[in-house]
Amino acid sequence: MTTTAGPRTNWAGNIAFGAPDLYLPASLGELQTMVARARQIRVLGTGHSFNDMADSPGAQVSLAGLPPEVEVDSAASLVRVAAGLSYARLATQLDRQRFALRNLASLPHISVAGACATGTHGSGLANQNLSAAVTGLELVTADGDVIELSRGEESFPGAVVHLGALGVITRLILEVVPSFEVSQRVYEDLPLDVLDDHFAAIMASGYSVSMFTDWHAPRLTQLWVKSLAEDGAPAIEGEPWFTATPAPAARNPVPGLPADNSTEQLGVPGPWFERLPHFRPEFTPSAGDELQTEYLLPAEHAVPAVHALHQAGDRIAPVLRICEIRTIAGDDLWLSPAYHQDSVAFHFTWIPDTAAVLPVVTLIERQLAPFAPRPHWGKIFTTPTEELYASYDRLPDFLDLARHYDPAGKFRNAYTARCLGR
Ligand SMILES: Cc1cc2nc3c(=O)[nH]c(=O)nc-3n(C[C@H](O)[C@H](O)[C@H](O)COP(=O)(O)OP(=O)(O)OC[C@H]3O[C@@H](n4cnc5c(N)ncnc54)[C@H](O)[C@@H]3O)c2cc1C
Repeated sequence: MTTTAGPRTNWAGNIAFGAPDLYLPASLGELQTMVARARQIRVLGTGHSFNDMADSPGAQVSLAGLPPEVEVDSAASLVRVAAGLSYARLATQLDRQRFALRNLASLPHISVAGACATGTHGSGLANQNLSAAVTGLELVTADGDVIELSRGEESFPGAVVHLGALGVITRLILEVVPSFEVSQRVYEDLPLDVLDDHFAAIMASGYSVSMFTDWHAPRLTQLWVKSLAEDGAPAIEGEPWFTATPAPAARNPVPGLPADNSTEQLGVPGPWFERLPHFRPEFTPSAGDELQTEYLLPAEHAVPAVHALHQAGDRIAPVLRICEIRTIAGDDLWLSPAYHQDSVAFHFTWIPDTAAVLPVVTLIERQLAPFAPRPHWGKIFTTPTEELYASYDRLPDFLDLARHYDPAGKFRNAYTARCLGR
């Protein structure tokens, strides 16, 4: 087993991990022994979360050294995948066997287990988050035992979005669909007040739609429409609500940045995994130098929430790189930010200045408070514990589940203390 000691950070560099050691087991057996012996431990995925959730007061463990298995069961339309694999690696292997995942996040660099642990999502009125595709989990619990959990078991919906608090997920089983093609078009400059009457129609204009604004002016800077190639071009140019201009060349959603790291646009059809993310796997995604925050709330509050954020635009804009608005279909996973509600998500890519950003994050939470926002678990938020309990009625049941698999609190850390209250 390899050990890495010394200073390490998350991808964004805003969190210096306090865990003195990072272990890299080469087999499931090594991992089991290590977990059984550890007093405190947390898994580090690819470290793309913006808070301290992957840190530990004891050790961290990475699954990057375990075999990168991908086993497709064509008859059942399922894939069994090693937890530490990135979506980029999984997607190319799946596509080779003519299968696909229904949706992806804006970047394919993240690990499957890390993404599912936090309820990571893409966009699309009919698309659930990535965790909703999970039908089975293999888990090393605190005492080093390996257990399997499957959809249909009573507590399974509690175990899928787990914040790393139940144990070490070693394999996941995901639903797959036949491979499909997508084409992507970007439009620019849409007045914000168009959303008042047409928010739902615009979001329905593609398989996955993202709106971008910088809150400098009352306008959407860009609209990214990802359509199933079989549906052809989105029928939006002729719509009475549509005054945006098709972008004449490829764009990066972050203002001022070149489009090199962005997926292909201009309506050129291509495989699902090369269009559904905004960013290409071989480049640094997004701006690189940034922080992120995101809140999900019931989709019916989308327009009033846009107005509430617009009122705070003069405080948001100076520390913002870009804001993205997406939709996510509801699910039944206890800690999913889309739990039991079709949702709209307001995402903020900030400049990398925590001290300047945090007060604005709290302001956004106040502005969105009437709409009961649920923060993205993997990004920066200041939501008090009691508000998290008010938003998630199964949080007490999740705590019971965590106590069941981890009675001594081996997988607890400062983040779980803040979010779960113990
Ligand atoms: C540029 C950028 C763009 C992003 N875009 C999106 C987006 O489009 N949509 C979205 O929803 N989010 C997005 N995110 C957030 C990101 O998807 C989440 O933070 C995700 O959880 C990161 O996955 P990871 O593998 O890096 O996990 P990490 O950050 O390493 O870990 C996340 C949590 O999962 C736990 N964990 C990881 N692996 C395991 C395991 N095997 N067993 C048990 N626990 C585990 C960790 O302990 C930690 O608590 C973005 C982040 C970045 C940096």
